[in-house]
Amino acid sequence: MLATLTVVTLALVEVARPTGAWPTPVKCDEADPTPDGRIYPEPLLSLTYVGFDEFLCGMALLDETYPDLIELEVLGTSEGGNDVYVVRTTDETIPASQKQGNLYVQNSIHGNETAGREGAFRNIEEMLDPDLMGSLDWVEQVLDDWVIHWTFPNPDGWKSGEPGGTTYARGNVNGTDLNRNYPVKGWISGTPLSEVESVHIDEYLKQVGDWYLGTDNHGQGPDTYAAAGLQIVGQFDYQKSETLARFADGITEAMTEYGVHALLDELGEVTGTDVGPYHWGTLYDMLGYSASGSVIDYYNTPDLLDGFGFATEMTLSNLNELHQNVFVPILTQVHVDSVRAINYTMFQQALDPVAFTYAVDGDVAYVFDPLRVRHDDTNGIGYEGDRDGEYEQQPYDVSRMQFFEDLNLYADNPLTAIRVPDVLSGATELATFDTVILNEDPMPEGDDTEPWFAALEEFVREGGNLVLTDGALPALAELGVVAADDVFVAPHYVGSVETFLDAAHPLNANLRGVASQTYDTVPIGYTFGGNLDSAPNWKVDQAAWEAAGGTTTGVHGDGATIYGEVPLGEGRVRILGALLPNPTEEGYHPFGLLNYAVTYTGYTLLQNMLTWDNPAQVLDVGGGGGPDDDSAQTPTTGGGLAAAALLVLAAGLAVRQRGRWRVWPDARDRPARQDA
Ligand SMILES: [Zn+2]
Repeated sequence: MLATLTVVTLALVEVARPTGAWPTPVKCDEADPTPDGRIYPEPLLSLTYVGFDEFLCGMALLDETYPDLIELEVLGTSEGGNDVYVVRTTDETIPASQKQGNLYVQNSIHGNETAGREGAFRNIEEMLDPDLMGSLDWVEQVLDDWVIHWTFPNPDGWKSGEPGGTTYARGNVNGTDLNRNYPVKGWISGTPLSEVESVHIDEYLKQVGDWYLGTDNHGQGPDTYAAAGLQIVGQFDYQKSETLARFADGITEAMTEYGVHALLDELGEVTGTDVGPYHWGTLYDMLGYSASGSVIDYYNTPDLLDGFGFATEMTLSNLNELHQNVFVPILTQVHVDSVRAINYTMFQQALDPVAFTYAVDGDVAYVFDPLRVRHDDTNGIGYEGDRDGEYEQQPYDVSRMQFFEDLNLYADNPLTAIRVPDVLSGATELATFDTVILNEDPMPEGDDTEPWFAALEEFVREGGNLVLTDGALPALAELGVVAADDVFVAPHYVGSVETFLDAAHPLNANLRGVASQTYDTVPIGYTFGGNLDSAPNWKVDQAAWEAAGGTTTGVHGDGATIYGEVPLGEGRVRILGALLPNPTEEGYHPFGLLNYAVTYTGYTLLQNMLTWDNPAQVLDVGGGGGPDDDSAQTPTTGGGLAAAALLVLAAGLAVRQRGRWRVWPDARDRPARQDA
């Protein structure tokens, strides 16, 4: 599977022993003494951060000691003329053809966020050294099966904080934020690949290919948790979404294993702060903002790199405000131990992948919309701003319907696509389903509205469950639930349920992490930031909704129901005003668009809304049994397959159970927006 990995010329690094005032100390020669005998001593035993030249001489010593386990490569020089390095660790005696693929660790792309690189040096050393962790079974297995790629993408920002410089810098020598510099699909706010560092990393990522898990380790300002996990949302199918959620949950457990808890107690005493180990959510959930052009978003791009990447912020490792270039050993020790928890969780999970199943309760249909958004449809690329022509427009052909098709790859009871004309002709009978999903468009095909809404209303009144999302919410007026002007849309930063109400309500079951965001904007072309906020969030006037008998399980703004249910006859109408909008061409999107950007919270809310048993369900005739007749659907292919499916499901459930650790989330607890 590693066929695309080309082993490039090994650049043997000849580095002079650093001179001058930079006494970390790091071992550059086997005979050099360090307090704990390590090449990179633990931060508690160090005098300052590891310097760039120390990083190199330590790696050179590792390469000399373990030539079959590590190699260094210079990918090119930075804008400031410094070398951009990748360090690869793997057992090189095992042929590439026998490797499972590649894992990615990006370190301190923001040069003033030291945690990533401080952790990486020590990780690399102890995974190779048999007297440290190198003889552990899982470490040997990881190095046997995988190639780990550790990139150090911002040497300018790093070296600017060293003797002769001033302070560590977020950007490179040009002051450019390299983590906004990648050619992601969707809305582009920056100028991708303007910096040569990004060009090097981009070429490397594409050249290597076959990526699996990845982590991008950052630093943030003050927080009450030692680290915050950021799920940067792209087009994540259910398997990718859950794989990343599992990664995040695993870090929580590992924080104890690597001693972060004990150190936190000490740190709490020193700072007088109440600190916890770890929490996670989307970038917006955690930090209140989103970003276009981040490397981990790019890493996750389907059909391009298709990695499974996550980002993490180590608290108080963004040195802008706090201790710029002042080395606090215990704080850096917390950072290094946190990075151990993150990276080692990732490596161990790579050895133990889980196949996830999306449990669908009942027989569900979704109303198909043939609409596609293409670069060459009648309105062209749609974009009419002043950036036309800056980058060559790449082709795209997207549809939000891809979400359902992808979901069916993992659904235990796949959703059925139905079409408006078939319902109107009688070829499709809504009553054969428990639940019907109508998304974004109240009537995607045709304009004979009266029989269409009459059919929907009859389905609900007889006992069916109608799930309305996004721009389909105006159907509420057609069904007579509320008046037309009680339903409205507002543009926001992302799609989200800002506050969940009634934690015990079944529609709010199984929420994990810091839950708020339901879809992301960048991959599907929506802009954000100040008056650029454009993500459609559909809402119902809460008073009107509740006067109609509706329950509000989530709001977005005062008096605005965005999530809830209302009984109608024997059935239910459930609404979620932000889940799966059409991709838009309004923003600048030279690298194309993706189909959808549903978050892990979005998947959970949809799953909860699908839980329904239609008492009036008409069982299909002709097949010997209806959709609810399991015996008719488990034919002669035998119990083996069903048992295997159950096992997969059980594994998925086990992971989901473990994820329910967090106390009731409240988006209002989010810190103010900050750059991290
Ligand atoms: Zn950062």
